[in-house]
Amino acid sequence: MDHLKLHIPGPVEVSDATWKAMSAPMIGHRSSNFQDLYGKIQPQLQELLGTERLVYLSTSSAWGIMEGAIRNLVQRKLLCCMCGAFSDKWLDVAKRCDLVAEGLQVDWGSPILPEAIDAKLASGEFDTVTLAHNETSTGLMNPLEKIAKLKEKYPEVMFIVDSVSSMTAVPLNFDTLGIDVLLAGTQKAWALPPGLAVFVVSEAAMQRAARNVSRGYYFDFHEFQKNAEKNMTPSTPSIPHINGISAKLDEFFTEGLENRYARHQKTNQMTRDWAAKHGFSMFPEAGYESLTLTCINNGAKEGGTVVDVPKLQGLMKEKGILIDGGYGKLKGKAFRLSNMGDETEETMSDLIAKLDTSMAAL
Ligand SMILES: *Cc1c(COP(=O)(O)O)cnc(C)c1O
Repeated sequence: MDHLKLHIPGPVEVSDATWKAMSAPMIGHRSSNFQDLYGKIQPQLQELLGTERLVYLSTSSAWGIMEGAIRNLVQRKLLCCMCGAFSDKWLDVAKRCDLVAEGLQVDWGSPILPEAIDAKLASGEFDTVTLAHNETSTGLMNPLEKIAKLKEKYPEVMFIVDSVSSMTAVPLNFDTLGIDVLLAGTQKAWALPPGLAVFVVSEAAMQRAARNVSRGYYFDFHEFQKNAEKNMTPSTPSIPHINGISAKLDEFFTEGLENRYARHQKTNQMTRDWAAKHGFSMFPEAGYESLTLTCINNGAKEGGTVVDVPKLQGLMKEKGILIDGGYGKLKGKAFRLSNMGDETEETMSDLIAKLDTSMAAL
């Protein structure tokens, strides 16, 4: 079957080099070979995420750790910051885990602002907060650094941050941010296949988790810590993914992290410029646009060009590229172009040339 190059915001395109790294012969997960592999990537992961804490690997998609984090940490009441499909769903997940939770909902396309979180936390009811750094469904990046500053005022409140579609594409320094959990799945900016999650947990969160008897087994933070201290994982991990992540990390450090972040900024600007050139407006509020994808308004909000998105998608498919047609309630009313992972100015120029030809044929 002909492959459609993925320009959807996850899963993203996986390079041949990555597939090759993932096809290394199998090793035992309790062997010294495995310990060497995890031991090799641990300092790379720590440097990438700006932390001296151990970085854990979970064989699950991001939601495993998203659910796991609240089960480990919530004892009284959870505040879910909701600004799009992924962050909204966390409230539903919390309720299904039988946790007491409340939402801080803003309109899709609007950011979560620190003042709004502060006003909620001032009640003293909440002991945990969930936040999506980059809300992929709306192409919006929340002001994480400003929000994380609230930790100084509320040190007892656990801050859980989903960086699924921003990790590796923008600087994320866990220790400087002072947050409690930072997590991502590998199928977005990591440019690996889906199936592995990467996360870090603060010492304060480990202590909170220790007091939480109903935290379960598979996502028990203490199981991850105990095992990671020996360069192991609690259960049999997806070893091919870990070979893949090792190859990816080598690529990141060869390119240089600063260059990688600059590349994402540049390639993202290219899609924004393309949208402006065709008279489209952006879906997210100005100043909060994501750096890893562009969510283009197509009638969801007033103003700007409106096109037949399914037709545009069809024309792009004929040219071998899959683009997104809008998430959930935004289907057809906004569409998204991803620049995360391995995309370069060259690959983005190809995308843009094909989009231009498709626009002319609409
Ligand atoms: C993709 C995504 C998720 C869901 O991740 P899964 O790997 O499907 O569990 C969660 N949050 C954000 C912001 C995402 O982009």
